[in-house]
Amino acid sequence: MEMIETGEATAILPAGNHHSPVKVFGTEAIRATFDELCLQQAINSRTAPGVTQVVLNPDAHCGYGAPIGCVLASPTHVYPGPVGYDIKCSMSLLQTDLPADAVSTREIRRELIHAICRRIPTGMGKGARDVPKSRKVDEKLGAAAMCEGASSDVLAKLGIPTSWAERCEDAFHRGHDDSVDSLRQRLYELRQGRVFNKFRERVQQLGSYGGGNHFGECEVVDVVDQPEARATAEVFGLRDGHVAFLSHCGSRGIGHRLATGQFRALEAKFDQWGIPYPGNDKQLVHAPLGTPEADAYLDDMALGANFATVNHLLINQLVLEAFQEVIPGTQGTLVYFISHNIARQEIVDNRPTWVHRKGATRAFPAGHHALRQTPFADTGHPILLPGNPQAGSSVMVASEGARESCYSVNHGAGRMLGRRRAIKELDQKTVDDSFTDADILTNCRRYPKDEAPAAYKDFDEVLRSVEKAGLATEVARLRARFVIKD
Ligand code: 5GP
Ligand code: MN
Ligand code: MN
Repeated sequence: MEMIETGEATAILPAGNHHSPVKVFGTEAIRATFDELCLQQAINSRTAPGVTQVVLNPDAHCGYGAPIGCVLASPTHVYPGPVGYDIKCSMSLLQTDLPADAVSTREIRRELIHAICRRIPTGMGKGARDVPKSRKVDEKLGAAAMCEGASSDVLAKLGIPTSWAERCEDAFHRGHDDSVDSLRQRLYELRQGRVFNKFRERVQQLGSYGGGNHFGECEVVDVVDQPEARATAEVFGLRDGHVAFLSHCGSRGIGHRLATGQFRALEAKFDQWGIPYPGNDKQLVHAPLGTPEADAYLDDMALGANFATVNHLLINQLVLEAFQEVIPGTQGTLVYFISHNIARQEIVDNRPTWVHRKGATRAFPAGHHALRQTPFADTGHPILLPGNPQAGSSVMVASEGARESCYSVNHGAGRMLGRRRAIKELDQKTVDDSFTDADILTNCRRYPKDEAPAAYKDFDEVLRSVEKAGLATEVARLRARFVIKD
């Protein structure tokens, strides 16, 4: 498949006669990382029913159905695949008032790791009951979190500052008819239908990271040394040379269960009605808006998304409490919480459109109409991009040019080596030594090889792609001091 270069960091991928091409963002070096299957998935997505645009970002790699690192826009259909199993997997950043040297000794960092791990569990299936200092979440509070998201009531019950809600891309998601009641009704039905057996155990996962690619990372903030970046950093609440904490996780078992149920239900319909799957790929099942199937999907996505939102906010509060235990008096506040696995209704080409971001991050620049009521109306909102612990992570802000990418950028560096290949090819000692040499502590005795920095793309080249394509500019780099992973 031929991509046609249109600029230093832009290209198009023709998708056939009646379709506008897939828009590709990435320098030549980055485009060389896209394999044939990834490009085929982009074309399958572009030519799927009701899809009006597909964007491929520099971190793109093979996913299920649609590539990870892509945006799919449709004014008429919803697609569960391009949201994914981890509904509303997201990033959040907490800024503390601690200067960098407060975490310079290994002893302090070890204590912090310990204090955080006693509050926030990591690993598959793990929840509040597996750690001594989490919050107790009963079925009623769990259900409220799923239906209301970060409402003042839910946040107050969990001891989270209610002001953090305005630091969320979306503090809550409503049902298909824009009501909370439809979510309550849907959750009631799901629980009656035993889709949510062990509901109590499931909601206890509120305030946990989960396994695999999810992480918590202590950072030192390096604001880009330019007047515009410094001014933006101030609006974001970033503090140069101070300690921050970056978290990556999603909706845990709840979201996975909801997504799995939706894939199964929609596949059964496709099979029953003999509807072909786009590109012969089951993961590209979809439903036309206004049908009971689309309504059910939107409700389930909202339930999962609300859980993910409260999960992140609780994690940030628990991280802050851990810091306060080790370093009394520490103050901290949320910079932003933003997703990379979600469908949102936005205006694209003057039409209300469901913008599905699968491993992609929303990027609204200064003056965007949707930011009018937010603290970021005059700057654009913070874009939180994890890279890897050694190359660092980035806080960016969108430029006007982001209009070209459906107001989206990548969601990280993106995988270079598949998990199996990374485990086979990378050397454990080399991986572990690279952390020791960089003076980055971790909670893992041996760092998971499939999560090693070498398993990901060159983050600097990814960021260069974003900047050269005119999508966003860097405001700050985050330097890791310790990483918590499963
Ligand atoms: P995903 O949501 O696709 O699993 O991962 C998002 C991105 O997180 C990856 O593309 C990668 O760049 C980044 N990432 C994975 N592990 C770590 C980590 O331990 N620390 C940081 N800073 N970034 C990571
Ligand atoms: Mn996830
Ligand atoms: Mn993620």
